[in-house]
Amino acid sequence: MLTNDSKTDPVIEIRDLHKSYGDLDVLKGVSVTAGRGEVLSLIGSSGSGKSTLLRCANLLEHSQSGEILFQGEPIKWKGTGANRHPSDRKQVTRIRTNLSMVFQQFNLWSHMTILENVMEAPITVLNRDPAEVEASARSYLDKVGIGDKCDVYPAQLSGGQQQRAAIARGLCMEPKALLFDEPTSALDPELEQEVVRVIQDLAREGRTMMIVTHDMRMAADVSDQVVFLHQGLIEEQGSPNELFGAPKSERLQQFLQATL
Ligand code: ADP
Ligand code: MG
Repeated sequence: MLTNDSKTDPVIEIRDLHKSYGDLDVLKGVSVTAGRGEVLSLIGSSGSGKSTLLRCANLLEHSQSGEILFQGEPIKWKGTGANRHPSDRKQVTRIRTNLSMVFQQFNLWSHMTILENVMEAPITVLNRDPAEVEASARSYLDKVGIGDKCDVYPAQLSGGQQQRAAIARGLCMEPKALLFDEPTSALDPELEQEVVRVIQDLAREGRTMMIVTHDMRMAADVSDQVVFLHQGLIEEQGSPNELFGAPKSERLQQFLQATL
């Protein structure tokens, strides 16, 4: 949850970001900041640019202009417009390994056991000691409630269990922030809740998170800050009480009505 120093201690800062695909302007000048320990939820209609914003933050996509800062450190760019790319590969790797992304479709490796899935990146990307990683992987799998599933393959698990394994995999990288893209959208309602509970626990622990979600109840419960995107621009932004309790913009009012 938000601490007093969140605003002075930003983990992810995005300033006036512009991103287009060919002629399609997807982000038209978006600025958001997630401070340390802060949970920021991104809501908005399908196609409003939520996933693109997360992918730009994680440097999976390259924005054409605007700045991205990680713990106060600006991404270095070369080129301009459609030719702009991060110029420092080491910086990109360092930042990406510090931002764990959790996807709607889990993206677990089907040929690896759950434990192997969680252990893979800390060993191969961070070169950490395998025995130490194994102990930490087991404790994260325990934490998300599937400590007994270490030796099974993803296909043997329910969607909710697979998503919790994906969250454990993200945590095992010991990232500075977690980015979630619709983590519950592929799940049946009864399985959704087990993933929501894990995210609630992480919020209570003070993890920094950016969460794209259609689940307004979860967003209201876990967020310090909610951002409503509409056609590539921030239409409204504020606390859950402000956005859900007293939405100002007509578009947000319509959006909330449609999602009830
Ligand atoms: P959201 O996550 O809010 O549903 P997205 O960020 O996925 O929205 O997409 C925003 C817009 O960008 C949509 O119109 C989508 O079709 C378009 N878009 C997303 N990714 C690509 C891509 N790789 N190439 C072209 N258009 C894309
Ligand atoms: Mg999306």
